[in-house]
Amino acid sequence: MKLSNDELVFEAEKEIKLERESTLKIIKIFQEISARRIYLERGYPSFYEMVTKHFGYCAGSAMRRINAMKLVKEMPQFEEKLESGELSLSVAADVQSFLYQEARIERHYSVNAKIELVETCLGKSRREVEEEFARRSPEREKRETQHAISGDRLRVSFSISKELNDKLNHLKDLLGHVDPSMTTESLLERLAELGLDKYDPARRAERAKVGKLKRDSAMSCDRVGNGKAGNTADMSDAPPRAHSISAAEVSRSRYIPANETHEVPDDRQGCTFISRDGRRCGSQKLLQLDHIEPFGHGGANTASNLRWMCGAHNRHRPMHS
Ligand SMILES: [Zn+2]
Repeated sequence: MKLSNDELVFEAEKEIKLERESTLKIIKIFQEISARRIYLERGYPSFYEMVTKHFGYCAGSAMRRINAMKLVKEMPQFEEKLESGELSLSVAADVQSFLYQEARIERHYSVNAKIELVETCLGKSRREVEEEFARRSPEREKRETQHAISGDRLRVSFSISKELNDKLNHLKDLLGHVDPSMTTESLLERLAELGLDKYDPARRAERAKVGKLKRDSAMSCDRVGNGKAGNTADMSDAPPRAHSISAAEVSRSRYIPANETHEVPDDRQGCTFISRDGRRCGSQKLLQLDHIEPFGHGGANTASNLRWMCGAHNRHRPMHS
């Protein structure tokens, strides 16, 4: 069966209408899933993670749907504009993300101002909408934006001072022996690694664990008895308070002794929450040690009562304890 040109255009129009209708249906289902926080019991640290990993949307498509979802949740009168195509998914998402960024710099819009903004953006292209945002918030150019450009790549844009640029270039020069044509991305990668080594509790626990193994093997060497008790070079980075806390102090304090922290397994695998269908969360975000038997109920600060939990699952304890 060969369709005429007019029939092909008609078919496309019909299917696009159906596609918009089903997009809106998906958005409304997403609202409910998000409100019930079903992602947590399914082993995801955030709704975004569930939309990408469980439903299989790429990062950009997921963010468009989630942002559009938030917009029509607050202003349901635009649902039909989304369905008619007068308000595209991308523009709805852009407006939502603009309002979010504005709120972050303490510029809050009343509901009426939000409605007025969406109405102004109806029927506009993303570029025109971006110009509208720039008119309303001239300093926007200085702010950071992020757009997913593929599964694991983002385009991040922000302006920096000349002074910071000089510092970054100076660092690149200093690292010239490592990589003579270092990009800003690889420089940031190095800086991020340095920062994480210094501030990430999971990495610090890992280093402490390695330090303990070194100390243990040093001590067993001593026991074998080469007579030298003074070989303490490896012990210099020992966690300072680990052995100076008394049992009584441990029993009445939330302080977790470092020697117990060492024994908790799987810290590098991230959050240990496991959903009913066996999905392990694994998120590293705000990773913290959680008492399995709550501390307030008499749970001990011992390795067997501790597990790594991401911020989202730790906060949402009632659903998994
Ligand atoms: Zn988690």
